[in-house]
This record gives sequence, structure tokens and C-alpha cells, in this order.
Amino acid sequence: MAELKVNTKKFKLNNGVEIPAVGLGTWRSEPEDAYKATKLALENDYHHIDTASAYGNEEGVGKAISESKVPRENIFVTTKLWNTDHNKVEEALDESLKKLKLDYVDLYLIHWPVNTDSEDIKDPSQYEDYIETWKSLQKIYKEGKKVKAIGVSNFTIKKLDKLLNAEGVDVVPVINQIEAHPLLTQPELVKYLTSKDIYITAYSPLGSNDSPLFKNETVLEIAKKNKVEPAQVLISWAVQRNSIVIPKSVHEERIKSNIETFTLSDEDFKALNEINEKDGPKRTNDPGFNNYDD
Ligand code: NDP
Repeated sequence: MAELKVNTKKFKLNNGVEIPAVGLGTWRSEPEDAYKATKLALENDYHHIDTASAYGNEEGVGKAISESKVPRENIFVTTKLWNTDHNKVEEALDESLKKLKLDYVDLYLIHWPVNTDSEDIKDPSQYEDYIETWKSLQKIYKEGKKVKAIGVSNFTIKKLDKLLNAEGVDVVPVINQIEAHPLLTQPELVKYLTSKDIYITAYSPLGSNDSPLFKNETVLEIAKKNKVEPAQVLISWAVQRNSIVIPKSVHEERIKSNIETFTLSDEDFKALNEINEKDGPKRTNDPGFNNYDD
């Protein structure tokens, strides 16, 4: 039987800030559920919560943080700028901080490389105006008050390259938050990000709702062999791959077990790495408005 332990690992980001490797995801958690889940997480050794203005639950997350016995400086809070707020970054951040009842967030991300007034997007490439957005984040970051670190989400190699080479851009994102699990390993993007000292936060690490990963033979066999939950196999794999990972749950038992990880044998780690080629790639989260090709 594998030895499960509460995961206390932290990664040091390219600006020196440390981030706990395992955090709680909150997408599709209703505000009251997000409140309860965050509260349970903070009572059960989590020190990292991931939310976004678009999730509509920052108030629930904030309430749990404000009531928690865990000191603010020991909680890593991420929130995200929504697509329709690219032209009013500071206003949107202030709104998030108000809802979260916080003076600062640890990480502020551009949620998607999509800058639009409308949710109805026909040609995504017309809305990829994110350089100015990044400069607004950069300015707030340099002021040193409201954010400890800034990053992006759902950016491809081409988009990051364009960003990093743009005039006036001199802060490298600390993180690119992307979908990553054994059915979507994204080896080229991972290699690129590693070369730029940008960490990955693996979102939908369990394959999101109705996950094909919970039916995947390799995952199930490895879980059975090690006498652990399939989710623990996936979360342990993500950390062993040097990524930050943010499984979402609103259930107490799952919240508790999702932060307990173990070290996969070389053989099991390799087998999980190979699922992508065998059964994937499979993206579980495609909102339809993003351009993943460029
Ligand atoms: P996950 O891969 O975390 O899977 C969540 C699903 O798995 C839920 O249905 C949950 O159900 C279930 N689950 C959780 N734990 C277990 C377990 N131990 N055993 C069996 N089932 C389990 O999906 P998400 O898409 O939510 O991704 C995680 C987080 O990543 C999000 O919540 C969000 O914070 C972030 N994210 C960011 C995106 C971005 O664009 N930047 C996009 C998507 C996600 P239940 O809650 O009922 O337990």
C-alpha cells in the first residue's frame, strides 16, 4: 500500500513568491458551496485556494478566509480577470478584492487571452488583444500592494512568445494556468514554459466533471495496485511532474483525500505519462471562444 501524506510541498515562482503545490479549485461551486469547501479545505491543511471573478463565488471564498484561524499570510489566494474586464483591470481587481474581503491577492491571472465586450465570439483571433492588458497587470504588480504575483491562463506558446517579446513587457508571468492531466500532457507547452521559468498550474487535473480519467484502465489499475483513490493517483502525478494542481470538490471526504498524495513508482509514473499518446489527447474544457492553435 502506498504511503499517503498531506502534501505540504511548495514551489518557488520566478519572482521568489512561494506557492503550495496543491490547492482547492472552486469553478462551478455555488457561493455557499465555495464557502463550505474553502472552510473545510482550510481546516484540513490546504493553504491555497483558486477562484475567479467569473465563478461568481469570491464572496463565499472570502467569507471562509476571513473566518479561518489560518493567518492570511499562510493562505495563497488566486483570482482571475474576466474577458470583459480587460479594459478596466484595476477596477475589476478592486471588485474582486472587495468580494474576497482582502487587501491583496497572491496571484492575479488573465483568465483567457480574450479581450471582448461580448460572450458571443465568432472569430477568436479578433479578440486576442492581451498585451495592453498585461501591461496593466504589470503596473499594478510593480506598485507592490494589491498583487504578490501575476500570471496568465490558457496561453499557447505563440501567445506567450508574442507577450514576452512585446515592447514594454518586462515582467515574465509566474504561471500559465492550463488544462493538464494524463489525457492532456501538452509536452511542447510544458517544455517551453520550463525554459522560460514559468510554472504550470494544472487545471481540471481530474478531468473535470464526468471525467474520462475515472474510467481509464491505467489510472484505475494504478489506484488499485497502490490502494489509493484514482483522484490521488492523478494529483500525485501532477505534483511529481512539477506542476501546481488545483482539484475541485465540494465534498468533505474528497477535499480531505485530495490533499493526500504519494510518490508514484517510476513504472507507474511512466505509464501515466504514456496515456496521452495511447488514449488522448483529450481536452475536457473548451469554452468555444478560445483559439488553441495560435
Ligand atoms: P477537476 O478536474 O478538479 O474535477 C472536479 C470534478 O471531480 C467534480 O465533479 C468533483 O465533484 C469531482 N471530484 C473531486 N474530487 C474527487 C474525488 N476524490 N473522487 C472522485 N471525484 C472527485 O475539475 P475542474 O474543472 O473543476 O478544475 C479544477 C479547478 O481548476 C477549477 O475548479 C478551477 O479552480 C480551475 N479551472 C481553471 C480554468 C481556467 O480557465 N483557468 C478552467 C477550468 C478549471 P465534487 O465537487 O462533487 O466532489
